[in-house]
Amino acid sequence: MKKAIFLFLAAFVCSLGAKAQHFDQYFEDKTVRINYMHIGNAHSESIRIEQYKVGNGWYGTRAFLVEPYQYGDILIEVFDSLSNKLIYSRSYSALFCEYRTTERGETEVAEMEECVNIPMPKQTVRVVFTSFDRSRKPTQLLDFYLNPAKTAMQPMTKEYPVMNLHKGGSPKKAIDILLIPDGYAKRDAKLLKHDMKRFAFYIMNCSPYKYMAKKVNIRAIKGFSEQSGITQPQNNFYVNTLLNCTYNAIDLDRYLMCLGVWNLHEVADDAPYDAIIIICNSEKYGGGGIYNFYCTVYNHGEYPDYVIVHEMGHLIGGLADEYYTSEVSVQDFYPEGVEPTEPNLTTLVDFDSKWKDLVEEGTPIPTPPTFKSSPDYDRIGAYEGGGYVSKGVYRPSQHCTMNSIAYDDFCPVCLRTLEAMIDYYALEKPNK
Ligand SMILES: [Zn+2]
Repeated sequence: MKKAIFLFLAAFVCSLGAKAQHFDQYFEDKTVRINYMHIGNAHSESIRIEQYKVGNGWYGTRAFLVEPYQYGDILIEVFDSLSNKLIYSRSYSALFCEYRTTERGETEVAEMEECVNIPMPKQTVRVVFTSFDRSRKPTQLLDFYLNPAKTAMQPMTKEYPVMNLHKGGSPKKAIDILLIPDGYAKRDAKLLKHDMKRFAFYIMNCSPYKYMAKKVNIRAIKGFSEQSGITQPQNNFYVNTLLNCTYNAIDLDRYLMCLGVWNLHEVADDAPYDAIIIICNSEKYGGGGIYNFYCTVYNHGEYPDYVIVHEMGHLIGGLADEYYTSEVSVQDFYPEGVEPTEPNLTTLVDFDSKWKDLVEEGTPIPTPPTFKSSPDYDRIGAYEGGGYVSKGVYRPSQHCTMNSIAYDDFCPVCLRTLEAMIDYYALEKPNK
């Protein structure tokens, strides 16, 4: 598998010239953001486009315009309208995709903000949004033509200063990580600066970021909130903040999310970004991470170093939680007989497509657990329990940052996934 990934990446590197030309053939060096509402529940869903934004520069990958990974629950595809050739795609998830699996999502209709960036097309393109449920059943949500010359687009605004926290070898060939503070009032200016540096340090001292440091850029937005702290509805504590992040998202006490996703991206527009991390000024333990969407982390307390790299596992790697005892409110998250999309879980329906190549010969599958003192404790296998369920879902290792509170302890499967993702962003970004 490692060899296969290498060959796959090598093939892309060899064809970079052609890919760059492909970008110039179809796209301008600008970003279009599609702001839309995702509406529905477990049984029906739709999206309604509300606004287009446009800004100079395309900061996403140009080497992989059609995304090789599809770990997300939503897929946007852009086709050349004349040839119907697929010229751009992006897979991502959103809070709505989790909401619809909750008890409330069974009956109540929710309406949530979402957005997605695409490079500015030169000509009319066909845009298709598709949603996948937990059984990977696709539902086409929207199929329309976008004529950039005839579509009203508002300019993206620039208003916040940017701090450079870590600069990889070349800004053209790196994943651009952007930290955005929430709940820091002007009087917290010193703390904000200190925290942004501290969280950049946590990222860069954790594998694989530390040994791929030349492929990682970290910047932070210097944006203040009206008030200090983060809203906690369950404690009747409400504050007016830059991003309006809140605990108790989808009725889960420590789930810390930003419900104003459009505004989040307005604030992020001041710097190039591939991954957005919100640093929340709060002592209450919490965080959250959604694949190719954004992640959050609280700033005080005992484990923010662990929480940020764990949530980045969801955000960047599309990794699943490997634990199986929790208060998570989702139901039937991994349906029987379906191989999960997340690279670090398997139902053994299609183990070959996962980490079977990393399992030593003679290792029993499923793999029985061992004590910590056992020489087999670090052995890669398929251990039952993961993704919030104790039966029928298997994880690769007995210890991992995606499993328990352990900083810089990603298992080899999670590490391999994150490495491939950093390369996905870093291999080539021509003309930047
Ligand atoms: Zn893992």
